Amino acid sequence: EHLANMIAAGEVVERPANIVKECMENSLDAGARTISVEVFEGGITRIVVEDDGEGMDPEDARLAFCRHATSKLRTEDDLFNIGTMGFRGEALASIASVAEVVLQTDDGTTGTRLRYSYGNLVDQEEGRFPKGTRIEISGLFVRTPARFKYLRRPAYEFSIISDIVNKIALSHPDVRIALSHDGRPVFNAAGSGSRQEILYQMYGRDVAASAVAVDEADEDFHITGYVVQPKISRASRHYMFMSVNGRIIRSRQMQDALIDAYADYMPPGRYPIAILDVEVDTQLVDVNVHPNKWEVRISKQPELMELIRETVRKAFDMQLR
Ligand code: ADP
Ligand code: MG
Repeated sequence: EHLANMIAAGEVVERPANIVKECMENSLDAGARTISVEVFEGGITRIVVEDDGEGMDPEDARLAFCRHATSKLRTEDDLFNIGTMGFRGEALASIASVAEVVLQTDDGTTGTRLRYSYGNLVDQEEGRFPKGTRIEISGLFVRTPARFKYLRRPAYEFSIISDIVNKIALSHPDVRIALSHDGRPVFNAAGSGSRQEILYQMYGRDVAASAVAVDEADEDFHITGYVVQPKISRASRHYMFMSVNGRIIRSRQMQDALIDAYADYMPPGRYPIAILDVEVDTQLVDVNVHPNKWEVRISKQPELMELIRETVRKAFDMQLR
């Protein structure tokens, strides 16, 4: 069992940013309205994620660290019909197998604090805490030097964390999200529901002011988000954010569709800044492609690509009028 957790950890927990992402997704699944993320030295020495979600009772807290003990997946069919972020029930077990973890949680009636050390439960106490969940991860990969050596400089690890926190904030603008690094506040999304405000925080006034809101649908897909006017572009692909049913994804095809849609407006070598959220019947999405859940497979890809082109074209044609 411990070995299985460590193998799974190789897929889910490549670096601190994966841990931040898994914990934040758990917080969102728990209905959090506020999530605070504190990381130290790029998350290598310590990560603390705290939320005001529904919390867990002591029994659920223990179960949370058992592999495949997800509370979110009841039948095999659910695998193809996934509404929540988490579904494999392996993140916490994996994380706890390669780090020191302290989980403190309270569901409003009962609370508990559990301490895991490299796969072993070493301490457990019941008590009352603020409603919600706080998870603290330290000593990542200290007992697995082969993994530890793949970690990069703190500044680099932090840049990946910051990117992920930004993306989650963008796709959940109604949740208050704060990020700090080595005790310094770095990012603070007010949870006002305004993504333009989050864009402003991330990229400054020019980008936020040039963002055009979009809202397009066909029979299968509903796209909302922002496309930034092509006069402001970037030299890399990293500024195109996509989510499917609230799940941040990486999709080369969707990126290519966006680039193609911008092609008339933009010189080669330049890439758009855009946020596209796709809502689609969960029956059309398979998120079970890779354990890190970054990739999704969407049925009716060609229709989606066409709708993306249409979305961008309309946004800029309207602007030019
Ligand atoms: P999954 O999210 O795939 O179910 P995880 O290993 O990420 O698996 O989490 C295991 C379980 O622990 C979740 O199903 C959930 O019941 C519980 N859990 C984890 N984090 C939180 C949290 N922040 N608030 C409430 N429950 C949580
Ligand atoms: Mg999870």
